[in-house]
Amino acid sequence: MLVREGKAEVFVENGVFYNPRMKFCRDADMVVFSCMDSHEYLDALAATGIRGIRACLEADFRAIFNDRNPNAVRLLRKNLEHNGLECEVLRRDAAALMRERGFEHIDLDPFGSPAEFIDSACSSVKRYLSVTATDTAALCGSATVSGLRKYSSYAEKTEFYPELGLRVLAGKIAREATKYDKAMEVLISWAREHYYRIHVFFRRSPRRAGKVYEKLGYLFYCTKCLRREWRPMDGSVVEKCVCGNKYTMMGPLWLGELHNEEFVSKAVEKAVEISSDEVRNLFTRIAEEIDVPFYYELHILAKLAGKSPPPLQNVIEGLKDRGFKASRTRCSGTGFKTDADIEDIMSILEKL
Ligand code: SAM
Repeated sequence: MLVREGKAEVFVENGVFYNPRMKFCRDADMVVFSCMDSHEYLDALAATGIRGIRACLEADFRAIFNDRNPNAVRLLRKNLEHNGLECEVLRRDAAALMRERGFEHIDLDPFGSPAEFIDSACSSVKRYLSVTATDTAALCGSATVSGLRKYSSYAEKTEFYPELGLRVLAGKIAREATKYDKAMEVLISWAREHYYRIHVFFRRSPRRAGKVYEKLGYLFYCTKCLRREWRPMDGSVVEKCVCGNKYTMMGPLWLGELHNEEFVSKAVEKAVEISSDEVRNLFTRIAEEIDVPFYYELHILAKLAGKSPPPLQNVIEGLKDRGFKASRTRCSGTGFKTDADIEDIMSILEKL
């Protein structure tokens, strides 16, 4: 079967992975890729090659394709020829390949968890790393032991679980990279449907890599009054919430920015130029999101206050009128972020 996606046309067949539901992610990636200043790219887990082929045709990338499945490699070669591309194609174990060679930009788009590839990718990567994860239960706290096994991070289910998942994933990449003297920064990230996607950037410097730990830390979460506090990895712990309840401690987590403002504003402009309204809307929402960890879910707070939820925009305006920062979140249509603490939020909510 021949499938058209973006500027590419690829053959798909049984036994080689292709998921049409990931088209939106690939559309969004093309915008992200067009904003990067490096064009050498390893599609490490390429399958049909759709992502790398689109990257060549839509973002002017020079891609190297790899997949250990011989059927995928055969189909990949056919797809490259069909799209008029001449690229290096490898049939290697991705982890072994990345151990041997350095790549400017690596894309990890695995079945389920990227965990087994993160160490080798961090050792190999020179500048950009793009990662998909579909093992959202392990990341977001609904499968706590899997999260420990895969990401060495403790998480439980919370109302802001997609953001927690993104922060577990970002935290894992950031920690793995520091041993190679690489300091991570997130360019853009999102959580949607059944997957998380994150694009990060590295600078090589032992000093900067050490400073990354100022952006890694633990969340202290009160399951009773929903208060959140967080601390960097400096040995400090908060045991009890002001309400008297014992905090649940989660992490290590990435507590730094989930996007780079300059990069995302460029991506919004690019999305207007080359992509769909849906991609533009996601990137605009990301651009408008304030940099405060852990969003609130309006309906859960309204339930706690014993009232029906007021319009989200009124809550955001109410917080801003009182001098707090507030915005919507990329992770939920009914969530908001603010630097106000739980008492201030509840007192505003009660008056609305
Ligand atoms: N990137 C593709 C896309 O956008 O359609 C989908 C990739 S698919 C989810 C994952 C691919 O990784 C499969 O084709 C599988 O054969 C390959 N794979 C799994 N483990 C691998 C490994 N250790 N080394 C190389 N390829 C691997």
